[in-house]
Amino acid sequence: MSQRSNPRVRVLGAGVFGLACAAELAARGAAVEVWDRAEALGLATCSYLAGGMLAPGCEAESAPPAVVAAAAGGADWWEAQGVQVIRRGSLVLAAPRDQGELPRFLRQSVGGQRVAGAALAALEPALAEKHTQGIFYPDEAHLDPRAALASLAEKLSVQWGRAGRTDDLAGVDLLIDARGIAARPEIATLRAVRGEMILLHCPEVTITRPIRLIHPRHPCYLVPRGGGAYMLGATMVESDDRKPVTVKAALDLLAALWAVHPGFAEAEILETAAHIRPAYPDNIPAVRRDGRVIRVNGAYRHGFLLAHHLARQVADLALQEAAQCA
Ligand SMILES: Cc1cc2nc3c(=O)[nH]c(=O)nc-3n(C[C@H](O)[C@H](O)[C@H](O)COP(=O)(O)OP(=O)(O)OC[C@H]3O[C@@H](n4cnc5c(N)ncnc54)[C@H](O)[C@@H]3O)c2cc1C
Repeated sequence: MSQRSNPRVRVLGAGVFGLACAAELAARGAAVEVWDRAEALGLATCSYLAGGMLAPGCEAESAPPAVVAAAAGGADWWEAQGVQVIRRGSLVLAAPRDQGELPRFLRQSVGGQRVAGAALAALEPALAEKHTQGIFYPDEAHLDPRAALASLAEKLSVQWGRAGRTDDLAGVDLLIDARGIAARPEIATLRAVRGEMILLHCPEVTITRPIRLIHPRHPCYLVPRGGGAYMLGATMVESDDRKPVTVKAALDLLAALWAVHPGFAEAEILETAAHIRPAYPDNIPAVRRDGRVIRVNGAYRHGFLLAHHLARQVADLALQEAAQCA
């Protein structure tokens, strides 16, 4: 490493982890360049498919406590990057046959409150006819991942169409490996968890906050994107298969959508897409140091939820190293 306290850093990968790390490093004075092998921001990047829910309370139902704790402050961090964060909470619902699951979900999650009847109707009038009870998480938020990624990528002047290697540090002091699942050949413990999603347009139904639907086999969620657009996700399959969305996945997701509001029968399907989430065995993302390479990976289903936390860890490590060498 050269003798400098404002290190030159190359970030490989312009997904949510790479961009968040680059933004945090740049804000702290590092000279940062970001390379991505994709020709442009799009479906080659797993983060592009995400729901964008900043919902640690709901995630607590199935995520380890460390994930829930690390999520604190995420919405504020995104806002500080100039990204629009919608703070309208989230709502958990269940089809009539699964209503018995609501008390369990409430117990296992954090910050939820039971809502029924008029209170539920006041939150989401469109859902009042079909749903009479649910759980509301008032402190949760969501963002549009595509807008968030595009905004950071533009500010950081990402160099698209540039594939890098972790053994090539020419011209930089440190390299941040944020290649997501593409880093798997170099990280033995990384595993692949396939996810599928559907993008819809349905201006006939107005829902203003993310809805999670409890289901014994296929829990799913619906995130409003504004202008009548909704993102419906997501399957979870232990597989690294990048094939397009399967009929089974589409049927499972669309059946759940029907259970949220029958008006979605008229929705147009704008896009179906699949990608691979990178995950460590404990499903907790981690920062690992390997000489002058810092690896940040294992986002699993919490890339947007935890990006700020991982970015701060990476920046702390990178700048500590630089200070010691200066
Ligand atoms: C359907 C679906 C829904 C999801 N919903 C959510 C959600 O609601 N909330 C949430 O937080 N997470 C969600 N996730 C998970 C989340 O999207 C991922 O865990 C996260 O995006 C992974 O981010 P990443 O930056 O590690 O990887 P990626 O986003 O895949 O970024 C890695 C980038 O590295 C680039 N790259 C690869 N090799 C090279 C190279 N050699 N040189 C340069 N660049 C390279 C790739 O082109 C890519 O752009 C979802 C995932 C899926 C599939």
